Amino acid sequence: MARYTGPSCRLCRREGQKLFLKGERCYCSKCALERRAYAPGQHGQDRKGKQSNYGLQLREKQKAKRFYGLQETQFRNYFEKAAKKKGVTGENLLIMLETRFDNAVFRMGFASSRKEARQLVLHGHFTVNGKKQNIPSMAIKAGDVIKVKEKSAASPKFKEIKDMAISTPSWISIDTEKLEGKVLALPRREDIDTPVAEHLIVELYSK
Ligand code: SF4
Repeated sequence: MARYTGPSCRLCRREGQKLFLKGERCYCSKCALERRAYAPGQHGQDRKGKQSNYGLQLREKQKAKRFYGLQETQFRNYFEKAAKKKGVTGENLLIMLETRFDNAVFRMGFASSRKEARQLVLHGHFTVNGKKQNIPSMAIKAGDVIKVKEKSAASPKFKEIKDMAISTPSWISIDTEKLEGKVLALPRREDIDTPVAEHLIVELYSK
């Protein structure tokens, strides 16, 4: 299935929750969800009442998929792999999504949204442990060092990061002067603030 290219804000309005898909705009009063906090479409404002169990599970899956900018097949593949791993499937799933290369770039503050992070990775602006890498889905590991390439560091986009105070999750450290981030450890479930009830996704796919 093709990647969704429609309006990002429509996805947040459909989920009734900020998915932070548009970078800085998401943090200001221009956010579409703040101005129109109802589902899109002709009957968006009429949608009320209790959702079925299936509806809840489906919405949770869609939310997680959209949050990380994945297509259905990619998301399903992550689930299959998570189910085969030791431990709790839902937690495995979230940890795998969180440790995607593009997500790590976003968490390090090198991009204002996951969508931008994906673009920057695809355009080859980063090295991992000294080697150029441009695959957004690559799984990063504890100890990995992600660095903005020397040539890219001169661009205004990255120059301005040097003056920014960036707050990162506890499993990541960042040196803005060097434009370099380190994965201190793999995240645990409690380190991931993605607002997703992963057990509902597991229930949906286990039917
Ligand atoms: Fe979602 Fe950001 Fe659009 Fe707000 S501005 S609706 S958070 S994509």
